[in-house]
Amino acid sequence: MLRLDNPVQYLSGVGPRRALELGRAGIQTVEDLLLYLPFRYEDRSRFLAVRSVRPGEAVTVRVEVRSKQLRRARTGLPIFRLVVADQSGELEALWFNQPYLDTAFQAGDQLILYGPVKLNPMAAGRLQMEAPQFEKLDRRDPQAATIHTGRIVPVYQRVGSLSSKLIRTLMHRMLGQIPAALGDPIPETVRRRQRLLPRVEALQRVHFPAPKSDLAELNHGRDPARRRLAFEEFFLLQVALALKRRGRRAEAKGAQLTVTPAVRARLRQVLPFRLTEAQKRVLREIKEDLVGSQPMNRLLQGDVGSGKTIVALLIMLIAAENGCQAALMVPTELLAEQHYRNLVRWLRATPYAPILLTGSQRKAEREANRKALASGAARIAVGTHALIQQGVEFRKLALVVVDEQHRFGVMQRADLVRKGYRPDVLVMTATPIPRSLAMTVYGDLDVSLLDQLPAGRQPIRTVLKSERSREEVYKFIERELKRGRQAYVVYPLVEESARVDLKAATAMADQLARRFKSFRVGLVHGRLKSEQRSATMLEFFAGSVQLLVCTTVIEVGVDVSNATVMVVEHASRFGLSQLHQLRGRIGRGTEGGTCILMMEPRLGREARARLEVMRETQDGFRIAERDLELRGPGDFIGTRQSGVPELKVVDVVRQRDLLEQAKREAFAWVDALPAEPALWRVLPPVQAIRRRWGERLRLAEMG
Ligand code: ADP
Ligand code: MG
Repeated sequence: MLRLDNPVQYLSGVGPRRALELGRAGIQTVEDLLLYLPFRYEDRSRFLAVRSVRPGEAVTVRVEVRSKQLRRARTGLPIFRLVVADQSGELEALWFNQPYLDTAFQAGDQLILYGPVKLNPMAAGRLQMEAPQFEKLDRRDPQAATIHTGRIVPVYQRVGSLSSKLIRTLMHRMLGQIPAALGDPIPETVRRRQRLLPRVEALQRVHFPAPKSDLAELNHGRDPARRRLAFEEFFLLQVALALKRRGRRAEAKGAQLTVTPAVRARLRQVLPFRLTEAQKRVLREIKEDLVGSQPMNRLLQGDVGSGKTIVALLIMLIAAENGCQAALMVPTELLAEQHYRNLVRWLRATPYAPILLTGSQRKAEREANRKALASGAARIAVGTHALIQQGVEFRKLALVVVDEQHRFGVMQRADLVRKGYRPDVLVMTATPIPRSLAMTVYGDLDVSLLDQLPAGRQPIRTVLKSERSREEVYKFIERELKRGRQAYVVYPLVEESARVDLKAATAMADQLARRFKSFRVGLVHGRLKSEQRSATMLEFFAGSVQLLVCTTVIEVGVDVSNATVMVVEHASRFGLSQLHQLRGRIGRGTEGGTCILMMEPRLGREARARLEVMRETQDGFRIAERDLELRGPGDFIGTRQSGVPELKVVDVVRQRDLLEQAKREAFAWVDALPAEPALWRVLPPVQAIRRRWGERLRLAEMG
């Protein structure tokens, strides 16, 4: 009998070399291989007689090779041609540019061909299949006929040198060897309620569907077997997240804050404007957490420009008023400096002078800041993750706000806890994440939504322009600058070719400086010394630089409300969510703005359609949904680095309802567990989680 955690190497038919190839595709164990699902199915239970084949349809035929021929077209292109037949008639199959097929076939071979059929344009009435899928039947292998034909067969994406057919053979053998009483990681009550197939049956059926299964349903991934496995995968992930959350909730937190009338008065004192209803609601939600006894772990999602910074400020002020410390952590120095300036301004009338901590500060300055944090003299700090690096200590850290760090924000709390702090944590992100993905990446956090922009915002106009219109674009920029406005010109920075891109950005800045002689043109990018960069940024903030050429260092958070124009060069190189972020830099005042997406010449239709999405909507959530559909979850905002394992079975784009159900069941199941984490380890879902994802989920935090 096989065990699910057996390495694939010891399966018969898989040697060390194939094991290596499978390993590269993330398939290490028997279970991994069983979860390598077919990407489509073919009905080979009914072969069409060649005589009844009609042009224009896709068919499966079972035929014998009569003759073969390899020749070259006048263009030199090799054409391989087979004449095949069954008892009812003959047809031919053609492959272009695959001369090696000549050695793969012999007259007399039994074949299954699958593909669309057309009429041979050269020989009237003759039927032809162009590059059909094929499978040779091995007459010496009696089992082959029942695995590969005569049923609905699974078709797999090949893995290295392992063909679909070989994988099918392995699957068949493995499924015959797994115990029928295989444990089921989904608790029985859940399975019943959700009407899920038992695990073994689902595995059998997903690879080798029952006769007369609905082929279309199978090919759309809507069959009960796949549904069960998708549910299982997502359920387990959610159990892991729920356990993490429960473990955390059991921790005592460092400080329980109170919001007295005096604190409220202080908040009113610093408020520079009327809060939106959404800001008020979100503040209420966060305050509940702050005054509660369990540590806060909350995600604040708000579209660009929805006013997250003031929310951060107000809650930090609550901490300060309680005699505690609060830290605002951001991904870039640029953003740290900007927040710092805002905090200084907003806190002027209070006893709290914020401090700034970044990696590039001079030593003396950093030392002074560190002392102030260690002694508790400084209550409010802003900085890059220099803030939580070695050597930085807080006297009484009660709150950490992480801004714009969706990429690794979730992880950093663990670092803080290891250092002995138990603060409330708020993660703020302006990259709206489709709910399905948010459940995966942030499944263990509470979520607040800032779904309203401050009053008076004008919509941003977005246009697509080609190289031909460059001069027209410049004229437009010029007009805006003359009206006293400012503009960004953004260059993509692709890491691998960073130097080339920087050169392009630098050349662009020079060229623009010549073109716009009566204005000042600045340049910022990630490779500049930070003093130089922040000097230029300050000039842009102050308005003495009017045109800023930049890379995506300005992507997140930068807030210059006088900037009304943004030109994005090579727009198609950016992801949609990133473009949305960038575009959020303009139209932040009451002026509206214009975003000009420069298209590269010869842009494909798909790339263009993607950019059109930007023109159609300004709703970050809709853009994110489209981005997710177009790019898939792996690339979307770097979930790969988020510490959440990749999902093999679940399709987060198409199976939303299923995900919601699985999440609900998982959290309910975990809530009902007894209080002793030591007992959790032996539960089947927890064991399945460890087997499947092991350390990647940081299970240590699960208790
Ligand atoms: P984001 O959510 O993108 O971080 P910010 O916090 O930078 O947005 O806010 C965008 C701009 O809107 C800032 O200039 C900020 O001062 C302003 N703002 C925020 N809230 C309000 C409000 N309630 N009324 C008016 N302006 C606001
Ligand atoms: Mg912001």
